[in-house]
Amino acid sequence: MHMKSKDRIVALEHNVHNNSNAAQKARSYGELSDALFAEGFVQDASIANDASMYHGGQGSCVGQELDRDSVNNKNRLEEQAEYIKNRNIFTDYPSVIQFETLSMCNARCVYCPSMKTPRRNNRMTDVYLDKLLNEIGDISRETTIAIAPHYVNEPFMDSRLIEILKRVDKQMSRVKVSLFTNGSLLYEREAKELSQIGKISAISVSLNEYEKAPYTRVTGLSFEKTIQNIKYLHGLAEKGQLKTEVYIRRVGDGSASDQEFVEFVKREFPLFIPACRRQTDWIGQIDTDSSGNALVKYPLGFIPVMGCNQWFRIHISSEGKAYVCCFDGVGKWPVADLNHMHILDFYRSKYKRMLRKDIYTRLEAPPPCNSCNIYWNED
Ligand code: SF4
Repeated sequence: MHMKSKDRIVALEHNVHNNSNAAQKARSYGELSDALFAEGFVQDASIANDASMYHGGQGSCVGQELDRDSVNNKNRLEEQAEYIKNRNIFTDYPSVIQFETLSMCNARCVYCPSMKTPRRNNRMTDVYLDKLLNEIGDISRETTIAIAPHYVNEPFMDSRLIEILKRVDKQMSRVKVSLFTNGSLLYEREAKELSQIGKISAISVSLNEYEKAPYTRVTGLSFEKTIQNIKYLHGLAEKGQLKTEVYIRRVGDGSASDQEFVEFVKREFPLFIPACRRQTDWIGQIDTDSSGNALVKYPLGFIPVMGCNQWFRIHISSEGKAYVCCFDGVGKWPVADLNHMHILDFYRSKYKRMLRKDIYTRLEAPPPCNSCNIYWNED
């Protein structure tokens, strides 16, 4: 992009930030849309246009725009469509509560900030864990809630995990559990236990590589052991003893290995679902890709002019603190201390309500959202 055009786009993005009046904001988004379109950023232009209409009081047109542009801008517009829907559904209750009971991982994946976090090795106190589960129970009596008992850690490092899941299963009525693990500690005993817990709706195993050498280089774990564990889990599914969906995941790098990984999973574990999502920079906390090369970052102007589905979630560390989103691996952006606050009070706080109600795109949000280029629909 020519320097002059880039400067103009940056200036227009600042205008969007600085205009508090709805009509002016609509105009600023319109100008930004034109400038982005002129530079060939069709997706960004389209979404800026959506934002312009929204602030101009024509929110109902957004759906039509999404429909019109969906062929070219599928990923981003799908996410924006989901975001718009979520604004209505998750007004009073969060979509997901994610929590880390023990800040530890046995892997060393180069694209994950778990080794960098200052809370490393911290264990959530039994007192706070009990409070948290009681609060999730409160919510589940009023609405269906999804929980994810992991954050930037390996959940099976915590010997309490199975007991936590059993408690959720027995005591909570409307809860769905999604569990992420690297699979290295998911032995036969754990797999059998999981198969008995009906509230687990999805298990994701972050395998990442389908050959021994890259797997060991990237994760520092034993390929044979992890594959053996996945085989056992697959055997349970074959016998009809595991009803849960299982995803075998990879952090994608855009190379041919992404597709080869998908083919490997389909061939070796046909009952499981392969998934490959592009690596993110964890809001600036990771700067290398899986090969150790500098991670290619988007230039300014590719920051999507849209909201974020993370705003409808709560992410809780082992210290009982809420952070801005699941990508804040090192805990740079704390937004609440939940040790003395109910999670629902936090979700209904001024800060969280502002994200859900008062703004429409991340350009209007406080840092780090206003310079974040992460979005979801890229499997
Ligand atoms: S930092 Fe990015 S991914 Fe995280 S909540 Fe903000 S916009 Fe979403």
